[in-house]
Amino acid sequence: MNDAPALVNRGPISGTSLDSRLVRSGLPGLRNPELPRLVTFPEKTPAQPLDGEKRSIGKGVFGKCSNCGEVFTADHLAQHFQVCPACGQHHQLGIDAWRRLVLDGGELEMWEDHILPMDPLGFFDGKTYTARLETAQAKTRRTEAIEVGRARIDGSVVAYGCFIFAFMGGSMGSVVGERITRLFERATRDHLPVVLLHASGGARMQEGILSLMQMAKTCAALGRFREIGKPFLSVSLHPTTGGVAASTALLGDVNIAEQGALIGFAGPRVIENTLRTKLPPGFQRAEFLLSHGMVDIVTPRTELKATLSLLLKHLGGAVT
Ligand SMILES: [Zn+2]
Repeated sequence: MNDAPALVNRGPISGTSLDSRLVRSGLPGLRNPELPRLVTFPEKTPAQPLDGEKRSIGKGVFGKCSNCGEVFTADHLAQHFQVCPACGQHHQLGIDAWRRLVLDGGELEMWEDHILPMDPLGFFDGKTYTARLETAQAKTRRTEAIEVGRARIDGSVVAYGCFIFAFMGGSMGSVVGERITRLFERATRDHLPVVLLHASGGARMQEGILSLMQMAKTCAALGRFREIGKPFLSVSLHPTTGGVAASTALLGDVNIAEQGALIGFAGPRVIENTLRTKLPPGFQRAEFLLSHGMVDIVTPRTELKATLSLLLKHLGGAVT
């Protein structure tokens, strides 16, 4: 005989088991008095990521490169538009910095900022959609996941739009779709070229089918815009996926991708599991797509404005 205690069924040992919750809530009659008292263990703390971009870049005084691990001051990284000075890794860039990087004087005459999101389905996923919107608005100081308007790029007047990835993953709900549609419509009316920077996880699940309908709506507006013969320069930033990649992002007259950006419809893991095959290295990255004819130009972030300017001048978009 060994000295180990006999195994006794003590029920679930989680501190949040139904039984213990009933005891704590004081509900009578549901607990079997013959069972031994439940031992409550401390709640498990989920592991915290150590190297996530959100934690390491743009927060506080220092930022650590997610690729090479070099540490720089936040100011130094901001001066380089979040491109690592050591290895060239491109980190997430805020919406104000995109304006400063691409637009003359960082100035944008905002359009359609009065169109605001609603909660048409009364969606709840542990938190109400309205609460999620409010959190995103407070965090980004923007009303939705895209800003559109009139701006200049190296002197050329353009209808400009830029997705805000920090706003619910840049997901395309009704308002994002409507603003893109109106961007194309105003560009059509005013005979302006369109420059649209995409960065999105795809459709916004909180708006269900209404979100998916934006794909057709934006593409229809783009179709009408083509009649005026002005260029549509589409830029895909990291990441551009799902319903956004499957609508306007890859329909540019010139499709430009930011260096290293992930661009595709379904994620690589989903494709691997569906096809039961190993995907080639660099799959769905900008450089891979360039070599397979899916995009026309891959550019580092710091050369994006010069690339756009050159294309606008060549394609007859310049209005000075
Ligand atoms: Zn680096």
